Amino acid sequence: MHVFSIPLRTRFRGITVREGVLLRGDAGWGEWSPFLEYDDVTARPWLACAREAADLGWPAPVRDFVPVNVTVPATDPERAHAIVVAGGCRTAKVKVAEHGQDLADDVARVEAVRDALGPGGLVRVDANGAWDVDQAVRAIAALDRAAGGLEYVEQPVAAVEDLAAVRRRVDVPVAADESIRRAEDPYRVRDLEAADVAVLKVQPLGGVRACLRIAEDIGLPAVVSSAVESSVGIAAGVALAAALPELHHACGLATVQLLTDDVATDPLLPVDGMLPVGVPEVDAAALARLAATEDRVAHWRDRLASVGQDQPA
Ligand SMILES: [Mg+2]
Repeated sequence: MHVFSIPLRTRFRGITVREGVLLRGDAGWGEWSPFLEYDDVTARPWLACAREAADLGWPAPVRDFVPVNVTVPATDPERAHAIVVAGGCRTAKVKVAEHGQDLADDVARVEAVRDALGPGGLVRVDANGAWDVDQAVRAIAALDRAAGGLEYVEQPVAAVEDLAAVRRRVDVPVAADESIRRAEDPYRVRDLEAADVAVLKVQPLGGVRACLRIAEDIGLPAVVSSAVESSVGIAAGVALAAALPELHHACGLATVQLLTDDVATDPLLPVDGMLPVGVPEVDAAALARLAATEDRVAHWRDRLASVGQDQPA
């Protein structure tokens, strides 16, 4: 067991350092990096995902590369334009509905992103659940116009019932992200007809095989997204995206660049908007460089013992 600690380039979910455990098994490396505030029950599927990677490996891929999106934070239009050009991806996810900004800011940002992508690219927006239903309906219409057509709107409102209400009132497809956090959530999204697209994350949902089952059960197109893992954790997401029978959308897996460093010999950074499918090699020098302090190692050792207790080996 290796505990890593990697500073983030910018604050994310209130944290500035990403910590986690790398487990080595017969099949390779697995990453276990549940957020620090999670209790044992919540952190358990995250461990199942790491064990799958380390002990079993992943199902055979049906594609060699996975398309990914560039993410545009809630920044000014000039910077948004530059980020899309530098990202080299054909799909851009634009953060909208940021606290302290208004719809005009979002419209200007989306117009700049469309300009940077050209007519062939796809623009999706992500409100992180910040709107109410009426705000969402109004904003989606304006942003759809600004984009010359949106690919989809991700989590326009927080509650899954409201997601269903928005979906009935707009033509733009709706994606569920925060509404899917535990294994039972995707079924609720399906039953309420709350979304057209399901955002799936391998760690919270218990691994690649668990996600493949969910995707098949719910019958919605999936977008595989990250929990801002190192390349070892991202590779599990890539393995899911590579094994899905159909992949209609670019995935949210280009997040290694949010970290200042990485544990892999070849960090999983996109080239021409694609990530390669495969098992990452861990770099011994990087492990040493990014090793957590003694007290953090002790914390993770205790946590692993506690969460892993009832876990089949
Ligand atoms: Mg999201």
